[in-house]
Amino acid sequence: MTLENTLSIIKPDATRRNLTGAINAKFEEQGLRIIAQKRLQLTRTQAEKFYEVHKERPFYGELVDFMISGPVVAQVLSGENAVLKNREIMGETNPANAADGTIRKEFAESIEANSVHGSDSLENAVNEINYFFSGIEIVG
Ligand code: ADP
Ligand code: MG
Repeated sequence: MTLENTLSIIKPDATRRNLTGAINAKFEEQGLRIIAQKRLQLTRTQAEKFYEVHKERPFYGELVDFMISGPVVAQVLSGENAVLKNREIMGETNPANAADGTIRKEFAESIEANSVHGSDSLENAVNEINYFFSGIEIVG
């Protein structure tokens, strides 16, 4: 058994539609624990830095605009194989390809406004958690 932590972000399309609780229920029903959580209005600089790995991709500018278009909820999710598990709960990036029951299938508006972010590796999870949270804010 490998207990992991991963970073989740509930994106502006979802906070706008008051879906924070519905999305959190998906995590909790499937065995992930929310061990840190805060609602934030990201600045442009903060969003640009968070998505720096996508800087060269054609959608980068629009993605940053979207991520600062309203509040987000940053979270640390904990559980067995939490990184991969969260990716499964989220579903594919494009909601058209997402499996039934996933967050993106049920809630996403588009490939961009797809309701949630989740770390894609354990190494990125550590870096992304440290970007948003200090140790004292994470209560496992
Ligand atoms: P994921 O969030 O599934 O890990 P990526 O890391 O590839 O996906 O992309 C980061 C985010 O960029 C996506 O969640 C989505 O909001 C946005 N995005 C990805 N691909 C596109 C695209 N083709 N057009 C517009 N936005 C996109
Ligand atoms: Mg990604």
